[in-house]
Amino acid sequence: MAGETEKLNAFPIFLRVEGRRVVIVGSGDEALAKARLMAQSSAEILVVAEKAEPALAVWAAANEVEVVRPDADFLEGAALVFAATGDLEKDARVVDEARARHIPVNAVDRPELCDFFTPALVNRAPVAVAIGTEGAGPILAQMLRARIDRMLSPSLGRLALLAASYREAVDRQVAKGVERRRFWKSFFTGSPARAVESGNGHEAIEATERLLRTRGAERGHVALVGAGPGAEDLLTLRAQRLLMEADVIMHDALVPQAVVSMGRRDAERISVGKRKGCHSKTQREINELLVALAQEGKRVVRLKSGDPLVFGRAGEEMAALRDAGISYEIVPGVTAAFAAAADFELPLTLRGISSSLVFTTGHDLKGKALPDWARLAIGGATVAVYMGRSTAAEVAGLLQQAGLSPDTAVAVVENASLGSRRLFHGTLADLPALGGRKDLAGPVLTIIGDAVAGANFARSKPLASYRESEERLAVRGERS
Ligand code: SAH
Repeated sequence: MAGETEKLNAFPIFLRVEGRRVVIVGSGDEALAKARLMAQSSAEILVVAEKAEPALAVWAAANEVEVVRPDADFLEGAALVFAATGDLEKDARVVDEARARHIPVNAVDRPELCDFFTPALVNRAPVAVAIGTEGAGPILAQMLRARIDRMLSPSLGRLALLAASYREAVDRQVAKGVERRRFWKSFFTGSPARAVESGNGHEAIEATERLLRTRGAERGHVALVGAGPGAEDLLTLRAQRLLMEADVIMHDALVPQAVVSMGRRDAERISVGKRKGCHSKTQREINELLVALAQEGKRVVRLKSGDPLVFGRAGEEMAALRDAGISYEIVPGVTAAFAAAADFELPLTLRGISSSLVFTTGHDLKGKALPDWARLAIGGATVAVYMGRSTAAEVAGLLQQAGLSPDTAVAVVENASLGSRRLFHGTLADLPALGGRKDLAGPVLTIIGDAVAGANFARSKPLASYRESEERLAVRGERS
């Protein structure tokens, strides 16, 4: 067997059904399922039933599908027939009649009676991915379908139509071989694809024209992509797709390796650090590198933890790209506050208690001036503090100075969304202890406000208990 491919007993082909009749015999769920499937094509569907069950009748009326009673020649002129009566004997009779007229027939749930099988279908008309298992594993087919569906852009069909409209022009103007391959690759992953994806038809045409003039030499592009809080499956589908198309992936230290390695295997990966105490590039160096890579024509994914527009210095990177005339886009991500709240089952807004949300940082609390968000906290806002571990005491002090009660509830999450997450709860009075904790090595997010009371404390430890017990344990652990 080694090296040999197993033979398919059913060979996949795409059958032209436009304007042709497909007959579905049956009145219930089986018939409805097949009718729905065929309705993804432009075939003319005819349902044959003594009396269609309500669900089928309603669907048929809504979709302008004709339902007729079985008469002598309902198979006349059919391109395909489905036996979907739900009754073994009746289905077998339909199969016999179809075969007598040499019309390919499918009998629902009877693979041995089928001339053809229907695939699980990923439909991006005119592009289709059909998954078949020769009737062996419909559930497996559905699982594969879902996976492939996630991989393909929703706008792929429109992009394919645009490609078709340019096929002749490309054949005329771009030399066959390497150059033409480069053209289409740039078309399907570069600026035309991006313009179609963002719903801008006019720009897509302009981009295609430009690509024709440059014979497929594409200009560089940078995507500022949110990697989410850490868990790989909190990445968006769009982020994943861009990672698969990237030439270069430039990431911060906070983005876990598992997410970075989701990108195209031969993409260049550049870590730009940016964690306290790590060797890292300056923001200016990062900006310059982004511009330089794009100017080389590279597709760059600038991967940032959480959401790129929340404490991500994206403003500076966008300004540098704009100044250099480089095209870029932003892909949002799940920000740490949302992941931390989810881990804590903590409602960030709570009816009647908190109706606003502040994202702030303990990092640039300059001087002793009361930051304006402290007043919002008094007004009942829920406050999410980023980068607030070393400045926990200042944050707590400022909020109390502003008049917030020391009893105000506080939730702290280390490594939100990850298996290694740790949850702590306490009050504003306990918060200063956070700054001195040597056992918290991961990123930490703090949520302050009355809405915290709505959280689930079943898996969290009291912030205050640390000093008495755990510090001693940690110290002992270090010594031994
Ligand atoms: N753009 C990011 C924030 C970057 S600033 C976002 O939208 O989430 C870095 C800070 O984010 C960290 O100091 C920490 O406060 C927070 N953070 C990031 N990931 C986190 C995680 N998994 N758990 C807790 N806090 C996190």
